[in-house]
Amino acid sequence: MANRKWHMITSIIVYLIYCVVYWYIDTNDLLPSPGLPDIAPLWIITGFLMALIGAEAPDWDLLINWMHHRDIATHSIGIPLIITGTFLVQKTMTPDDPTLVLALVFAPFLLGFGSHLLLDLFPSVDPEREIKEKGITKTTATLLGGFVSGLTGVETIKALQGTYLIHLPLKLPVLSEKKGEYVEMRKTYPKHLTRWWLFFNGLISGLLGIFLVIMLVWG
Ligand SMILES: [Zn+2]
Repeated sequence: MANRKWHMITSIIVYLIYCVVYWYIDTNDLLPSPGLPDIAPLWIITGFLMALIGAEAPDWDLLINWMHHRDIATHSIGIPLIITGTFLVQKTMTPDDPTLVLALVFAPFLLGFGSHLLLDLFPSVDPEREIKEKGITKTTATLLGGFVSGLTGVETIKALQGTYLIHLPLKLPVLSEKKGEYVEMRKTYPKHLTRWWLFFNGLISGLLGIFLVIMLVWG
């Protein structure tokens, strides 16, 4: 289901959850938050756009000539680490800098980014067709279950080849089963590594988003 529409929809859902949690924490004064701004229209709309951009960002590899689709440069925690690192450096050097509050809208970017990588685990699921055939409850259950079972290889083998795999800039030696030695060269991760890669990089990207907000509040 790794098409653009579902990347968008998922990141909007994640963003709504982010807003509700933020609003709840803010209105109940659950955090030591002298510098935490109240939720306001400009924050909401900026965060919304950042969540959408984050959900698109990994597929920018399609726009760059020398990258393959699912390039490791964009389908990894590289971009999230650069963003988080920039905030950390700025926080260390100028802790009172007012622009640090932008962490609140970069967090949705990272959540959207993470949701993209996690969705890329399921290339062959088409939620629209599933919902039509099975109803929304069953489809949700299938998808949520897939995050666990998907890692053990329930998804069809056919879907896990070609563009599904994470593409690398270098060729890797591959063990040939016939000859028992490393002969072939490939420029992709094998499928199991691809799955674990997407899972952990997606998870960490989202966690880095949450970390940005925590850093702003407590740092
Ligand atoms: Zn992708």
